[in-house]
Parts: sequence; C-alpha cells; structure tokens
Amino acid sequence: MSKKETYSINLAILLCLVVGVYIFTNPSKPHIPLLSPETKPLKFGFDLGDNYFDTYKLASDQNLGDLLLWQGISWDSIIKLDKLSTDIFSIRKFRANKPFTVIRKDSCSSPHCIVYEPNKYTYVKYHIDTLDIAVVEQQYETCIETAAGLISSSLWLAMKDAGLAGNIIDKMEDAMASSVDFHHTQKGDMFKLVFERRYMDGKPIGYGEVISAAFKNDSGEHFSVFYENDKYAGFYDLEGRPTKSTFLRAPLKYSRISSRYNPRRFHPIKKRRIPHLGTDYAAAIGTPIYAVADGVIEIAGYSKNNGKYVKIRHNDIYQTQYLHMHRFAKNIRKGVRVKQGQVIGQVGQTGLATGPHVCFRFWKYGRQVNHLKENFPPKNPLPKDQLPDFYVQRDSLLKVLEAVPYPEVETPLYSSLEK
Ligand SMILES: [Zn+2]
Repeated sequence: MSKKETYSINLAILLCLVVGVYIFTNPSKPHIPLLSPETKPLKFGFDLGDNYFDTYKLASDQNLGDLLLWQGISWDSIIKLDKLSTDIFSIRKFRANKPFTVIRKDSCSSPHCIVYEPNKYTYVKYHIDTLDIAVVEQQYETCIETAAGLISSSLWLAMKDAGLAGNIIDKMEDAMASSVDFHHTQKGDMFKLVFERRYMDGKPIGYGEVISAAFKNDSGEHFSVFYENDKYAGFYDLEGRPTKSTFLRAPLKYSRISSRYNPRRFHPIKKRRIPHLGTDYAAAIGTPIYAVADGVIEIAGYSKNNGKYVKIRHNDIYQTQYLHMHRFAKNIRKGVRVKQGQVIGQVGQTGLATGPHVCFRFWKYGRQVNHLKENFPPKNPLPKDQLPDFYVQRDSLLKVLEAVPYPEVETPLYSSLEK
C-alpha cells in the first residue's frame, strides 16, 4: 500500500464507514456495491441470453480428453488445443474439483468455447473454432468494512457471529500476535476490526487485508494499525512497535491441534510415560506447511520416526522442525534461506504417524520447548525519524477504528424462576 493509496483508502474508509456500521448492526444483509450500468447481462464475456452454459467439475479419476470428446469436441480440436495452450494456460493444468464451463450456441450444437476457472479471480477461455486462448483477470472491488464482537465462548465463534470467517481471523491474530495471547481469550473480551472485503458482481468473494484492529481484555485495550512507507511495512502498536510476532503461531492455517506439547504424556496403549515434545496439527494430506519465521534450512531429510522432515535454524537461539511431510516444496533443501510464511512442504503421514498431521517442534538453545508458552523478545520500534509520518497515518486509522462501537456487554438478568 503506497502513500497515495493510503490517502485514497482513507477516503474509501469515510465512504464505506456507513456501510461498515450497517454490517455491524445487521450482519445478515450483504453490502451491495454500485455497479456500472450494463446493457446486457454477460457471462465470461458471452451474452447470457444467446448461449448455453454447462458447468462441470472434473473428478479426480476422470480424463479431460474423454470428457471433452463426450461434450462433442473433436479429437482433432482437443489435440490442437492441448498444443496451443501449453504456453498460455495448458489444458493439462485443469485440476479436479475446479469448475469449467462448456458454452454452446444452442442446446444441441457442439461447444464453441470452454472456460476454466483456476481461482476466484481468473478464468481462461478456450475458443474451439478459432483456437484463441485468453486468460482473463476478473475485476473485483475492494471495500473497507468494520466489525466488532464480544467473546462469549471463543474468538472464532465471536468472529463468526460478527459475520467474519476464515483467513481474516488468522490475519487479525497475526497482526496482534505480540500484544494479545489469543490462546487464552476470556469471556467478555472484545475486538474491533477494520478490514478489506472483496466483491465481484455485488457478491462478497473473500477478504483482503486487515487495516487496523483493537482488542480489549482485562489487561487493557491493545491496538494494531497497518503502516507502510518506502522502507517499512507492517502492523504496529500506538508507539510504533511491531505487533506481529517474530514467529507464526502455527505452521498451518485453519488447523486444529490434535495433540499438545506434554513432557509427561501417559501413553494410552503402551501404558507408560512417553513425552510428546511437539505440537501436532491435524490436516488433510497435501495441506501447505509454512516456515514460522525467516531462517536457513538445516535439514530436509528422512528418518524412520520423523518421516520426511525439515529443520530450520532461525537464529542463535531458535530452530523449528516439521515432521511427517508428504513432500517438500520446490527448492527446499539444506542451506536454502526461507522467509516467514513461505511454503516448505505438504502435510503427510510419513514415518511414525497414525494419521495425516504435522508434528511441529520448537527448539530453544538446542532443547525442545512448548512454543505456545514462549514469550518472544519484543521487536525494535520504528526509528525516531519515521515516527512523525507514522503518527499521521496511525491517527487517521484510529479515527475510523474509534468510530466503531464495541458490542454492549449484556447485563446479567436475575432468574425469574426463583420468584
Ligand atoms: Zn507430535
């Protein structure tokens, strides 16, 4: 986000603030951004009224060639498409469970176009007659919105109640990781959030970034604002200290802890104490595993118990280890430098593992510790000469955040049954 963009976002914040409050008070009603008037409804650039659209998903055991033949596309055209698409977007890159649409002029003619959608923002058009292939990036609109919530059982549920889901929860937690302990949130804790939401054709399609956040608990009110200039970019507290932790909380997203670090674990089958010196995160095979901090790969290897595993050295004090991988990511080998959040491999079940998971081990001075209980040293604040500029951006972001009301704490009602 450049400075110029920051100003335009500030303007957008003002424009969308009404919308945000509206969402906060009435989370079930979606916000509909204004659309430019269009003469005819189009889909993938084709007139909706003059074409037939059939959308399929390739099953994992299905052959694309067979499916296209069955759709009435000649073998000759399929071979030509295969050849021509290699440099643009190969039809061999079609993945199972991703939608592709076959388009005809009428219900019984043979298709004149196939459209494949690799993600929410892109589609690829394969014109069968002209053999033209085009990758189309879809336009989406980013709106600045606000939300607030009160924790009654868990942060996750409170955020769901506030109409939020998925990665925005992770992003808020990451943005405030060094000032709030999200593993020990309590009933009555409250949060406020200013964030980006993306819309396509008036429908929300996902989240962008968190812009600012506040969290109120019994130790006070904590803030995090996104600040960026030519040299620095990140989340900072009100004094300009980074609020993002040096280490990610987990090496996976949306995972659940299936077994915690426990040096006194009593093994239910072997009937004796076998310490568990890692934290297990259960996830499907193939789920990406992230490096939790910048570092250098020390080991990318295999052992009987660990299966395929990676060990990263972060500095003189800390190393992390990721066990039971299905496979390593490209270029992950000894001596390679990795960044925080970089994919280093996929969840698997190699070595001694009863189900697909990653056993995450955190080493401090060569000994394994519980990373969820570590207090990492605070990061250095922004240099003094950057602070005046930071304060300007901080204050304009805070103004928006402060305009969002915290939810009303419910006053306890006396039970009427005792009357
Ligand atoms: Zn484990």
